Amino acid sequence: KKEKMKYPIAKPYITQREKQLVMEVLNSGNLSLGPKYKEFEEKFAQKIGAKYACTVSSGTAGLHLAMIAAGIKEGDEVITSPFSFIASSNAVLYVGARPIFADIDPVTYNMDPSKIEEKITPKTKAILVVHIFGQSADMNPIIKIAKKYKLKIIEDACESILATHKSKKVGTFGESAVFAFYPNKQMTTGEGGMIVTNNKKIYELCSSLRNQGRSPNMQWLDHKYLGYNYRLDEMSAALGIAQLEKLDFMIKQRQKICLSYNKYFEKYSDLIQIPQIGRGNTHTWFVYVLCIKNKKIKRDDVIKDLYKVGVATKPYLPSIHLFDFYKKKFKYRTGDFPVSEMVSKSSIALPLYIGLTERDIEYISEKVVKIIKKYDK
Ligand SMILES: *Cc1c(COP(=O)(O)O)cnc(C)c1O
Repeated sequence: KKEKMKYPIAKPYITQREKQLVMEVLNSGNLSLGPKYKEFEEKFAQKIGAKYACTVSSGTAGLHLAMIAAGIKEGDEVITSPFSFIASSNAVLYVGARPIFADIDPVTYNMDPSKIEEKITPKTKAILVVHIFGQSADMNPIIKIAKKYKLKIIEDACESILATHKSKKVGTFGESAVFAFYPNKQMTTGEGGMIVTNNKKIYELCSSLRNQGRSPNMQWLDHKYLGYNYRLDEMSAALGIAQLEKLDFMIKQRQKICLSYNKYFEKYSDLIQIPQIGRGNTHTWFVYVLCIKNKKIKRDDVIKDLYKVGVATKPYLPSIHLFDFYKKKFKYRTGDFPVSEMVSKSSIALPLYIGLTERDIEYISEKVVKIIKKYDK
């Protein structure tokens, strides 16, 4: 049984407004394919600054459809980051293509543009850029490479909603981008996701594929493509509309909390590497991740000790290439992507949610420092 922690790692921020909009849907009796998902799509597209948005049942489902819509298929290669949540790379596998990893930059933990070109082969079709932890990848060199080799760019923006790079929002760099609304993200719909694009054909194809391959002008039992049931229900869409209304506020609150953590840990720069923000980036803080500087300290011991004092933390993130089935399938080994592996071994995500007070942050920070100091020999 999972113990209730004094400080969980994440918690959604739900107010009266969310309850009101969800209740309206329940009272209407129109629980799927009603007016709410369309309203959510329109408002979301506007917020990101894209022409179209397509609701889906999860970020993972969105990535799958984005891969299909990009025409990625068996035998193709897609260059992506090994330092990500597994869903980004799995989406490449879903369409029978091969994820080719390029190591990350030690400052932002995003794909290092200088490591991409050497991975390109005649089979390479796309770059799946992941904007990790709440900040953008270094897009200009990536776009340059994509143009030079005629590769598509697809963005996994699931962790970085409203983050900007040189004043441009993530989700507006590629031919399509995917956002996710699991309860630990900056905004939530319970389960849910969104594909955004400026390309009408991609939008129409994704809309059809998430709804069993139906076209808008078709009968319910008519199907144009091999589709899926990746629909977002109306309760979730209503929740999304309410969350979108307060998204700026929620991100500001997250920024405040992270600055407080930073302030506290700055005094311990010999022990702790605080998160760094890349040049030209704004950060929207999906997670607050610090790295333990002394590589002899076992990060997992620190996580266990923090758990004992009521602080939930997580090892964000394991490197994807070292998961068993990736190792078996692609013969990856420890040492293949050293920067990613180094971060994976020493990183800890701390509690981050609206409602954490200065005193909470002080308590958590004190415990973190105390425990790391204990192991620092
Ligand atoms: C959350 C997340 C996803 C999608 O997750 P779902 O749980 O399917 O909504 C995809 N990629 C990254 C990097 C994520 O963090």
